[in-house]
Amino acid sequence: MTQSPTTPLPADSPHGLAAVEREIAHACKEARRDRMSVTLIAVSKTFAADAILPIIGAGQRVFGENRVQEAKGKWPALTQAHPGLQLHLIGPLQSNKAKEAVALFDAIHSVDRASICEALAKEIKNQGKHPELFVQINTGEEPQKAGVAPQDADTFIAACRDTYGLQISGLMCIPPVDQAPAPHFALCAKIAARNGLTNLSMGMSADFAVAIQMGATHVRVGSAIFGTRTVPHN
Ligand SMILES: *Cc1c(COP(=O)(O)O)cnc(C)c1O
Repeated sequence: MTQSPTTPLPADSPHGLAAVEREIAHACKEARRDRMSVTLIAVSKTFAADAILPIIGAGQRVFGENRVQEAKGKWPALTQAHPGLQLHLIGPLQSNKAKEAVALFDAIHSVDRASICEALAKEIKNQGKHPELFVQINTGEEPQKAGVAPQDADTFIAACRDTYGLQISGLMCIPPVDQAPAPHFALCAKIAARNGLTNLSMGMSADFAVAIQMGATHVRVGSAIFGTRTVPHN
């Protein structure tokens, strides 16, 4: 049975997935939002196919990975065996991986600098593939974190469109681990609104309900579905 990517999952889904689905439904209800307005991205980084298969079997269709190389190793076989899956790149992208990223992913959440825009524009043209693009905003202005600084966001989004001819779908952010996420989600939503962007990729296992309250259209949930990652990864 195939489902559209946003179709709510059946109640007999694996434990973590069912709990996440219930919490998303509840958060949507609280926020008076349609459940279909939120896409759950199941973040499968570090997990092998045997852990991913039951989640596919339960009807989940949208998955996230944060490394091109890792995704390349495990996803082509899975997508071939299960038509209709969507794969999202949620981690940093190097321009020398743009070719593989455009070939492999249906969405890229980490557009954050001119060299990436240039490389993506070239590959989109060459491959005739149009992944959905999100600009990552470094809302906490953390030096070690990827993303465009909030004060540079408007100029960067304009350059994506005007200089590189990229169609931007929305914004993505990862709040600092040691801060309340809500102000970061609000800032991301505000930047999106003033740039005419409707999609917001925000919210992870610990805070996706808050993110939905603040307007998230894409929540990226890993450990709450798959369990704790034993391999260190970021
Ligand atoms: C790993 C990761 C997630 C998922 O994190 P969990 O806390 O396991 O839900 C979400 N977004 C990004 C960018 C990630 O790297």
